[in-house]
Amino acid sequence: MTALDGIKARYDVVVVGARAAGAATAMLLARQGLRVLAVDRGAYGTDTLSTHALMRAGVLQLARWGLLDRIEAEGTPRVRRTVFHYEDEVVDIPIKAKDGVPALFAPRRTVLDRVLVDAAVETGAVVRHHVRVADLVRGSGGRVEGVLLRDDEGDALAVRAGTVIGADGLRSTVASLVGAPVTRQGRHASAVVYGYWSGLEVDGYRWHWGRAAAAGLIPTNGGLVLLYAGVSSRRFAEETRADIPGCYRRILEEAAPELAGRLPEARLEGTLHGFPGHPGFLRRPWGPGWALVGDAAYFKDPITAHGISDALRDAEFVARAVGRGTDAAMAEYELARDELSTSLFEVTDRIASLEWDNAELKTLHRRLSDEMKREVAAMVELHEETGEPARRSA
Ligand SMILES: Cc1cc2nc3c(=O)[nH]c(=O)nc-3n(C[C@H](O)[C@H](O)[C@H](O)COP(=O)(O)OP(=O)(O)OC[C@H]3O[C@@H](n4cnc5c(N)ncnc54)[C@H](O)[C@@H]3O)c2cc1C
Repeated sequence: MTALDGIKARYDVVVVGARAAGAATAMLLARQGLRVLAVDRGAYGTDTLSTHALMRAGVLQLARWGLLDRIEAEGTPRVRRTVFHYEDEVVDIPIKAKDGVPALFAPRRTVLDRVLVDAAVETGAVVRHHVRVADLVRGSGGRVEGVLLRDDEGDALAVRAGTVIGADGLRSTVASLVGAPVTRQGRHASAVVYGYWSGLEVDGYRWHWGRAAAAGLIPTNGGLVLLYAGVSSRRFAEETRADIPGCYRRILEEAAPELAGRLPEARLEGTLHGFPGHPGFLRRPWGPGWALVGDAAYFKDPITAHGISDALRDAEFVARAVGRGTDAAMAEYELARDELSTSLFEVTDRIASLEWDNAELKTLHRRLSDEMKREVAAMVELHEETGEPARRSA
């Protein structure tokens, strides 16, 4: 049996990529009764290069979809406070239970993406891994009408679809095949090095800010704590690549000296992971027969840890728009996304420059917090408008 066996010739929607954005979108479309195929060139339940702190809007989505219990059942700890360490000040913010969100969570991608894929399959979507989209099928006038799939053995299959959704990440094949225009371009990029540690006690998210350097602690599954160090992409290129462990420790000492001092008592489990950085962008997220969601449509620097939350948010918008099936609905998707993203994008880009002083950084963080509150309020309103009940109580 190959990964292509049993795939039908036609679906209402084909979703390309089956992680945060793609699996969530497939699940929501299948819940509307649409016939959905989601494919991913990677393997089921695997990790990906990403830290994974969720913000309130992301947790709200998981709660509304009835998936937060599963995330907790996998041993994902509750995050009840988020603490900002500036050089001269500590700002400690308790996370209040509200709107069905009992706390924040930072599930490993091996957990979150798997829970979403399982939920999509349970709802009736067909999800196939080890299958990539190599090309698009076009009808007269250039409208996208399907995809050309290839499995790991090189076997090919053409599948037709009413809509093809690219949820295939930062280097989206679908976005480049349709030539989706970039509508907003970031100027800055930060690089991140991170690893998972045992023996590091932490009671919430901890964000440390030094001079042109950042570090943070994110508690996650298995009693482990993700510890990251961030610098400008330029500096990463100049010095980090040659000696990642040495630079990781150097950046930690610059951004969070006390934290760096605790490391001899802790143990790095596995290897360090490095992301060299990539400037953010917003792309036009729809056109004739196609749509984009997640990083494929909207990538912003990881320094504000918001990409997954936005992917879960936009999965909701795109699935509702595709369900309605009109250009007007797709235009509303773009509008809603831009309305909630533009300011967040600009603030993130500025923080990613790592060229602020503490006073400016605190102002940027206040703006970020205001934007996140606006985003949560919009999502609560959206769910209330459609009378969708919370599937879980805090
Ligand atoms: C270093 C780093 C740290 C981050 N930290 C955070 C954080 O703390 N919190 C947060 O919210 N966000 C964070 N992000 C952002 C977050 O990782 C992304 O926003 C999120 O992964 C987007 O999900 P996605 O489903 O759109 O894309 P992805 O997770 O990239 O998934 C895309 C999928 O598409 C598949 N694919 C690609 N091409 C094809 C093809 N042609 N055919 C079939 N399948 C294909 C890939 O195999 C992949 O599985 C971070 C990102 C990075 C790089």
